[in-house]
Amino acid sequence: MTVRSCRAPGCGARTSRYGAFCQTHRSRSRRHGHPEQESITKADLTQYLKLVRTRIAKNETSPLWAQCEARWNAVLEHARRVQAAFQRGKAGYRPDRIAAQEVVQLASNVEPSKVVETTFAMFLLQDRQPRRFRSDQAFRFQLVRRLRGLTELNAGSWYNHKTGKTHKAYRELTPRAVMVFGQWVADALGGVGSYLAKLEREQEEAKQQRLRSLAGALEALQ
Ligand SMILES: [Zn+2]
Repeated sequence: MTVRSCRAPGCGARTSRYGAFCQTHRSRSRRHGHPEQESITKADLTQYLKLVRTRIAKNETSPLWAQCEARWNAVLEHARRVQAAFQRGKAGYRPDRIAAQEVVQLASNVEPSKVVETTFAMFLLQDRQPRRFRSDQAFRFQLVRRLRGLTELNAGSWYNHKTGKTHKAYRELTPRAVMVFGQWVADALGGVGSYLAKLEREQEEAKQQRLRSLAGALEALQ
């Protein structure tokens, strides 16, 4: 048996017999969709949530927001159909069933507007800080993670004696179920999310441009 080292850059730990990654990187890959993906925290999302809320407030009368909530509700309806089919004894694809259960649980505990805002904030974060995500799949995993984080039900708490903080331990979903969940949300809200991210970036760039030309004009005064 040959001993191989983990393929994650800078790791070098020994791999399991068949895998390309060590235990740590393999479990991170399962949990985060990529062996080197770090988790996106609620705090990481705060400033982007603020931007999303400002955008919504500025366009209060736009029908878009209600349409987005309706799209989320359509995801919920789909999830309920998946569950109903399963209850009638249809086997179906297991990850679909697990994702459906998660969607129903999220929807019964969290307002649609919160789901929509959080999804958009993730798209803004991805647009501003693309390097935070190692792959599209890793982005979807973090999206699902932040959405699941909106409900307390998924988390059991544990106390860390070293830091004196209480942490939440999320019940893990299978990677396939996470992918299904992420796909449903991205199909429903990804288009608008990407558009809002682009709009935010372009307006910020235009603002910076105006400030630069103002500074230029001031410097040129005689
Ligand atoms: Zn490793």
